[in-house]
Amino acid sequence: MEISFKGKRALVTGAGKGIGRATALALARCGAKVTAVTRTQADLNSLVQECASISQVCVDLADWGATEEALQDIGPIDLLVNNAAYANIEPFLEVTPDQFDRSFNVNVKAVLHVSQIVARGMKARGTGGSIVNISSQASQRALTDHAVYCATKGALDALTRVMALELGPHQIRVNSVNPTVVMTEMGRVGWSDPVKAKTMMSRIPLGHFAEVEDVVNSVLFLLSDKSSMANGVALPVDGGFLAC
Ligand code: NAP
Repeated sequence: MEISFKGKRALVTGAGKGIGRATALALARCGAKVTAVTRTQADLNSLVQECASISQVCVDLADWGATEEALQDIGPIDLLVNNAAYANIEPFLEVTPDQFDRSFNVNVKAVLHVSQIVARGMKARGTGGSIVNISSQASQRALTDHAVYCATKGALDALTRVMALELGPHQIRVNSVNPTVVMTEMGRVGWSDPVKAKTMMSRIPLGHFAEVEDVVNSVLFLLSDKSSMANGVALPVDGGFLAC
């Protein structure tokens, strides 16, 4: 299936590492004019070195005011990938208010905020658009030591559905991809322990974790016109984990 984003402008959050970085590069390869947003300047430098056509915005998305300022002149965007997230792994009884706020600020509040900024422009131009939120299998299953992370991703799925409902009449589609474990920097924090990894893999019918490209391909599909009637969908990229 050939997907082209020629003439489209895309914004990817958390584009410095892992899934976000691979998504930004894939979108650029498909012809989109990409803006990469993340908070570590060194990651943006290396990304632009790898692909010179990518524009960069360095901001901590947990900071509402700084995000507003950083994105005020972002210009028209047709495709948005809300990918940046923070995963804190700790037992439920040890969760602190700071960890809770930090997680919700990045994983939920920033998605709402960046989407508002982008979708207002889409609505004003009347050209429609497509938004993909990177959720997780954790939105729908209990995972040990993931209380806050699971809660943020559950909230994100709910947010995705309401965005789909309210933005749909403006031909702005909003969907999520919900991956299983991917061995990025974030994945390694939670799943490097071989016992934990084996237990998780035993719950995945295909018997292995996802690769970054598995997630990127689903994101490209949902961004593209090939999924033009998909709106409000949570697409598992999980080898069947959520089917069990
Ligand atoms: P990653 O390798 O840790 O990369 C996350 C990126 O987001 C980094 O570039 C990070 O920048 C950026 N970011 C985090 N907080 C930010 C903030 N406050 N402001 C701006 N940028 C910020 O993570 P990943 O594994 O690629 O995860 C990408 C998405 O997939 C996330 O939504 C995650 O929840 C989801 N997901 C991951 C897995 C998995 O197993 N890896 C499974 C299911 C879903 P810094 O490094 O500078 O903080």
